[in-house]
Order: sequence, then structure tokens, then C-alpha cells
Amino acid sequence: MTQAQKTIAIVGAGAAGCLAAIEAKRRMPGSDVRILEAGAAPMAKLALTGGGRCNLTNTFEEVTDLKWVYPRGERLMKRALRQFGAAETMRWFEEEGVRLTEEEGGRIFPASGDARQVVQALERALRRLDISLLCRRRVLSIRPVLPEGRYELRTGSGETFPADAVIVTTGGSPRRSGLSFLDPLDLATVPPVPSLFTLRLSDSGLKALMGTVAPDAVLSIPGTGFKASGPLLLTDWGIGGPATLRLSSYAARYLADCGYGCPVAVNWTGANEQEVRDGLQRLTGGQSRKLAANTPLPGLSARLWSYLLERSGARPDIRWGEFGGKGLNRLISTLTNDVYETTGRAAFKEEFVTCGGVSLDAIHPHTLEAKTHTGLFFAGEVLDIDAVTGGFNLQAAWTTGWICARSTADYCTKSLSL
Ligand SMILES: Cc1cc2nc3c(=O)[nH]c(=O)nc-3n(C[C@H](O)[C@H](O)[C@H](O)COP(=O)(O)OP(=O)(O)OC[C@H]3O[C@@H](n4cnc5c(N)ncnc54)[C@H](O)[C@@H]3O)c2cc1C
Repeated sequence: MTQAQKTIAIVGAGAAGCLAAIEAKRRMPGSDVRILEAGAAPMAKLALTGGGRCNLTNTFEEVTDLKWVYPRGERLMKRALRQFGAAETMRWFEEEGVRLTEEEGGRIFPASGDARQVVQALERALRRLDISLLCRRRVLSIRPVLPEGRYELRTGSGETFPADAVIVTTGGSPRRSGLSFLDPLDLATVPPVPSLFTLRLSDSGLKALMGTVAPDAVLSIPGTGFKASGPLLLTDWGIGGPATLRLSSYAARYLADCGYGCPVAVNWTGANEQEVRDGLQRLTGGQSRKLAANTPLPGLSARLWSYLLERSGARPDIRWGEFGGKGLNRLISTLTNDVYETTGRAAFKEEFVTCGGVSLDAIHPHTLEAKTHTGLFFAGEVLDIDAVTGGFNLQAAWTTGWICARSTADYCTKSLSL
């Protein structure tokens, strides 16, 4: 038997699927690698990533703990990134002719600022390696063919494709029906819910502050451990910006379970009560005759400061010297623990990812092979792995796609030698 007789089917021509196909073919040049893609063209989402600029990875230099980056899949990613991490990814794309540039927060983009360059690099490699890309082929089921140990994939048009090994890279889907093609395999899945979104708030007073940023805010959900910090952007519907996106990621399932209606506490300053008290006392002591409205706490814009003073119950023309103990306490509480009700979620530039998918308990963490089905592998967002913004989601796709390719090659080589 030769490698030419091995057929590897890849389900989904997204980031993970295309990289997995290329790497599988490089390792098994004689094999028949086919990608079955539901859409009319490959990598449609990749072309839109990063607002069309594709934040394809991150240096991870500012990441102190992976759990703040991968709320789901942290342990698996820790191990996986050692095999094919950011440095390997950057080298991979540079070798394919994509010059890269680094931006704030360690975010890596193509220097051209054009996501299509990343797509084209992958397309070129697919062509060069003669990988068949079959578009408009939505896979509706994957069945094991026993006792041969092969798989049969059935598409929407009724065609069937046999395969010796299958890599599933169908991406995220916020609905359970997006995983129904896996039903014949009886794999454990985690119900999918959206992650990375902004929040609607009931308080209409904030609308007037649209466009304002609190640069060092901390958001939390009272009564839970969910907390996220960073710039907070006030929008015409509620709150956005990095702090909100992070909170939506950490608390994705909790927020889904409560129908996106729960209290959210805003610490506008990022400082604790005592630090804010000390800061205010410096202002009240040194500038007692000054209007409080004219001397905002450092870091807060004049508009936001006036709003918060009013929200704490202070008169608009109050002078620092007129604050009593109670008034100061109310202001400190507003600055550090200002509670709003969320009334729903809203899209963040349409960039949501899915929390949930194929359970990590169902796959071997080292090979990404299904525990109950040899020769069946999973990569990318179809797995219960997702990240905050910053290039970490695409890195998960590249990393797991690369590992699946290596595992598939090992599996095929082993089965040839039996
Ligand atoms: C607008 C937007 C912008 C984003 N920007 C960034 C960014 O800048 N940086 C970052 O790190 N992350 C970003 N993300 C997240 C990132 O794009 C995804 O996490 C990543 O694309 C996942 O890769 P994947 O290969 O697993 O899935 P996808 O890229 O979604 O690919 C899955 C493919 O499978 C196909 N498919 C699905 N079901 C079937 C089926 N049954 N049969 C056959 N084919 C099927 C789909 O058509 C699709 O082509 C962004 C997401 C969005 C929505």
C-alpha cells in the first residue's frame, strides 16, 4: 500500500482547515487531501477579520496568564502553543510571502494592512500542493464505516466522500444545529453561545456620553467572580470597548443563561475605594474653593466627571469644600461601584466568536483526535476553545490546525505499517 491511497478529508475551508490541509499534504505528499467547504469560496471569514486587516496572531509578550486570554481551552492551548505557537505562525506566513507588522498589545497584522494577503498566501499554497478544494459542499453527516475504520461524508447535494482520516474545522456556530452533522458520531458537545459582544444598558443617561472612554475601568458582575479591566467605551446603546468585550468573553455562558439581563458594576477609575478616597481628599483639601465639576479626577473626561458627580447626588455647582462625609462616600461609591442593569447584547463589528462546541473531554489533548473515533480530528473554533480579542482566536485556529495535520500524518503512517 502507498500513501497515494490515503484520502484525508477536511471539513471547512477556514483558517484552521486550510492550514491543516497544507501541512497534511506537506507531510504526506502522496496522499489525496480534499477540503469540503459549505460556502462558495474558501476563507470568507478570514478575509473580514480584524476589520479587513486580519489580526492573525499576537506576540503574547503582554500575556501573564493564558487563562485571561483563553477563557475556554486554556490548558489545551498552553500545551499546544509549545508545539506551534506565535513565533512558528509568524515564520510560517513570512515564508509564504506575508510581511508582518506588530501593533500595540502585541497584535500582529500583515504589513499591507490587507487580510486578503493572508487569504491569498493560503490559496497559493493550496494550489501549489494540488489540494482539492470543493466548494458548495456542506457536509451533513460523518459516519464511521466499520469494520474498515474509514469514514463516509455525505454532503447536502447527496454526494458521498470516503476518507481514511477526517479533520473537522467547521468553525463556530452560535446554534446547536451547527453541530448536528456530528450527531452520528455521538461526541460530547458543549452548548454553543456567543462571546465577544457589547452590552446594552437600561440607563438612558449614559447615551449623552456616547464616544466617551474611561481608560482604566473595571467591570464586574456582582455576586459572581467575573471581572474585566481596560478601556471602557460608552456607546449610544450602552457599553463597549476592551473591558466590555473581555467581560462578555469571561462571562459568556453566565450572560446567556440570564438572557443578557443582569447587573454590571462599573469602577470608572480602576482604583480601589481607599485610593479614590485619598485622591479626592487631596482635591477637597487643596482646592476647597474650586468647583468640583471643574476639577475632574485624573483620567476621567470633563463630561463623564460631570455625569458621575450628578449621579452621586452632588449639586452641579458644588465646591470641594462643601462635600460632607456622606456626600464624599456617595461619590466614592459612584466612582468605584456604579451599578447598571444590562438589557441585552449587541454585536461588536460583527466579530463574535462561539463559546462551546466539541467538548475538550471528547478529544485527546496532545493529538486532537476523538477519544472514541480513531482517525477523526478537530481543529479551530468548532472546539470548545475561544479567546478574547487580540489575534488569539486565529492563533488557536493555526495551532490546532497544525497539530491535527501532524496527528493525521502520524495516524496514516501508523495505519500503513499495520
Ligand atoms: C468579523 C470577524 C472578525 C474577526 N477578526 C479576528 C481577528 O482579527 N483576529 C482573530 O484572532 N480572530 C478574529 N475573529 C475570530 C476568527 O475569525 C475565528 O476564530 C477563526 O476564523 C476560526 O477559524 P476556523 O477555521 O475554526 O473557522 P472559520 O474560519 O469560521 O471556518 C470554518 C469554515 O467551515 C465551513 N463550514 C461550516 N460548516 C460546514 C459544513 N458542515 N460542511 C462544510 N463546510 C462547513 C464554513 O463555511 C467556513 O468556511 C473574527 C471573527 C469575525 C466573525
